[in-house]
Amino acid sequence: MNVANGICRIAECEIAKEAMMRIAINAEKCIGCARCAYVSPLLYVMDHEKAVARSTYIPAELKGYCDAAIRACPSNAISLAEDRLLLTQV
Ligand code: SF4
Repeated sequence: MNVANGICRIAECEIAKEAMMRIAINAEKCIGCARCAYVSPLLYVMDHEKAVARSTYIPAELKGYCDAAIRACPSNAISLAEDRLLLTQV
């Protein structure tokens, strides 16, 4: 896997997707509090008062960082797709 700063850069690779998870942020729910970016700066950054994921797909070993941001988010705007079979069908 081609990993830079802990985030895979080859999300198009079917083999990589099997070992990765997908982050989704609901921009309508996001209130721009920046807690996710504070708790997990490796995965989230603020852009025009909304949170965005630095990478849509993350290696499964970074799941803990995403879980911490999900717990910290006051508006339940963050989700993590754990169905790896679904990811392989893209
Ligand atoms: S913690 Fe939730 S509401 Fe706050 S910026 Fe992140 S996604 Fe948006």
